[in-house]
Amino acid sequence: MGRFLATNVSLILRGFPRHYCVGQASKTNLSQLRKRTGVPLKNCRAALQKCHNNLEEAEKWLKEQAQKEGWARADKLQSRPMSQGLLGLIQSRTGATMIESNEVKNSNGMEKRGLERAVDWVKNNDLEIGTIVTDRHLQIQKWIRENLPETTHYYDVWHVAKGLKKKVLATAKQSECGQLSKWSRSLTNHLYWVATSTPNGDGDLMWAKWESVENHVHNKHEGHNELFPSCAHGMLYGDERKKKWIKPGSKASEKISDIILSNRMKRDIPKLSPLYQTSQIEAFHSTVNHFAPKMVAFSYYGMYCRLIVAALHFNENTSRVQAATKEGNMQFKISFPKFKHGEYSVRKRTVDSTYGYVTSLMTETFTSMEASVDATSPHQPPVSCLPEIQPPPLCSNFVHPEKSEAVQHFRSRFMRKETPV
Ligand SMILES: [Zn+2]
Repeated sequence: MGRFLATNVSLILRGFPRHYCVGQASKTNLSQLRKRTGVPLKNCRAALQKCHNNLEEAEKWLKEQAQKEGWARADKLQSRPMSQGLLGLIQSRTGATMIESNEVKNSNGMEKRGLERAVDWVKNNDLEIGTIVTDRHLQIQKWIRENLPETTHYYDVWHVAKGLKKKVLATAKQSECGQLSKWSRSLTNHLYWVATSTPNGDGDLMWAKWESVENHVHNKHEGHNELFPSCAHGMLYGDERKKKWIKPGSKASEKISDIILSNRMKRDIPKLSPLYQTSQIEAFHSTVNHFAPKMVAFSYYGMYCRLIVAALHFNENTSRVQAATKEGNMQFKISFPKFKHGEYSVRKRTVDSTYGYVTSLMTETFTSMEASVDATSPHQPPVSCLPEIQPPPLCSNFVHPEKSEAVQHFRSRFMRKETPV
């Protein structure tokens, strides 16, 4: 059981030092330091302890730590109405990393920092990354190109398909291009087929297959190119034959050809991920949202623990089998996903979630508590996996007014409004 918990916990990576010891500090200095820096009491206490209760030195040390760990970046985030932001990243369904949004300039930067940390973790565990699948984030593309030259980088198909669909639908709104909206689904289906029908990830073949669709929409199904000379659908019958084919030379034809053969597509199609997609991460994020709703601001430890519990729940329930009725019939459900704008999806209904990890957690907690009774150091945290030091909340670097003055200001403004003109 100990191994069960420890395994999961050790995979939640964090970027804050844990070797500071917490001890006694002068109460006056402690509150002074807290007031001057806005850093949590625990960190102030650690700083004073380290600097033998010297206020100036402790402040200097804390500032150095803040610089080192990126805490001081919070002032750049004033427009963001959040007190603590976190990002989870998962590797092969087994690990996650957590990043404070005040470590980086903005939420875009969090993705890169998460990747750096995940890659470090993999390297520190003597593992090699053969293939990496991400969305088309430009910063990430550059980072992987420069830092992981031996690794094959693929793009998640869903993200490419989403961009394609958006472009086709936007173009369909232009004059004489209305019929393109009918092609949006066929094109995204073809995109998925291009990736999944090329399991070896041969980029040239993927491009050849994709390029052929430019002929297909014009009702031409042969003579595409050397690698993929004719469509794979065979003879077309019935409704398939009566499709709204695009007339060569028309405005719609010109526009759809531009989209299909765009430079962006030329770059992205050969890098489509043939086997693995990032949908598992999206599913994990949705589990995290369940355990840590975005509308509630949690403390650092609160968020940390919730992320761990979300990972435990996800790992236990991610491969649930399809549910069946008593008679043995497989069960399905119909849903109306927002992105389908009113169209439905049929999904397999899975068996109910299980919560075995709760029993394991409780056992671990009791064992840990019993052990702490005999512990030699009274300052040991009750659960040793928690980080001993936590970064300050984002708002700690903002200018804090004297509360009485702020209230006075608020009152005087309020009174002015009430005065009749
Ligand atoms: Zn065809």
